[in-house]
Amino acid sequence: MSDGLGLSSRVGVFPCPNCQETINTSMQVCSFCSSPIDPAAAAAAAQQFARVNQACSDASYLKIMAGSAFTFYLLRFVPFLNLMGIVVLWFLEAAIPLMAIRWWAKFGDLRIDDPGFARARRTALHVGVGVAVFLFLIAIGVFRVATAAFRF
Ligand SMILES: [Zn+2]
Repeated sequence: MSDGLGLSSRVGVFPCPNCQETINTSMQVCSFCSSPIDPAAAAAAAQQFARVNQACSDASYLKIMAGSAFTFYLLRFVPFLNLMGIVVLWFLEAAIPLMAIRWWAKFGDLRIDDPGFARARRTALHVGVGVAVFLFLIAIGVFRVATAAFRF
């Protein structure tokens, strides 16, 4: 029953509440401004800092995937490369919505005032909405093709 200890005793980094310099949870005083560090508050801050960093890197990954989806969409019009464009786009059409949903499930409840996180949140929102609209348009298009085929 010593499970909880390993995770909570790990050293984490977080911004000093006083000077905002990045310090770690093993310090009793900030090495930049010498203000005292409360271990419990430091542990909580470090945990949140790690989540925010993860949120930002996940969002930028989402953005890269959305950008590459557009590239592969254009590849569909390039002779010889169009098949690759179609196949990769199929994959991305499934992967991007799943990743956007996962982002909101993991980080949607984070309420912090951080410009980096605000940017990540916007990115996740735009990619999520953008992909939803894109898939909706495809669904309508597919539906039209299906009804057209039905008539013949
Ligand atoms: Zn400090």
